[in-house]
Amino acid sequence: MEMSCPICNEVGCNDCDEGIIRIKECPLDYIGYDACKYVKMVELIDKGMLPVSGGVLEQSHKFISIAEFVWACEVRATERQNSRKKRK
Ligand SMILES: [Zn+2]
Repeated sequence: MEMSCPICNEVGCNDCDEGIIRIKECPLDYIGYDACKYVKMVELIDKGMLPVSGGVLEQSHKFISIAEFVWACEVRATERQNSRKKRK
């Protein structure tokens, strides 16, 4: 798995390889499952789903997984669009 370096914003620094961080182990080994749940909750709050009555805390795991899948598809579609624009 690769991710953009949040420290140098893909410029390149001592903590990355030319702006890219390569993760070879499961990220959950670093942060633990509980932290992962909170990260997911923050992502959902960013998207307007608040952890209030009727909000994130009462949504089923299945619904949240589906929402994440849809958002990932949106990101991929945006990336494809942007790469097509760059080629023109
Ligand atoms: Zn860096």
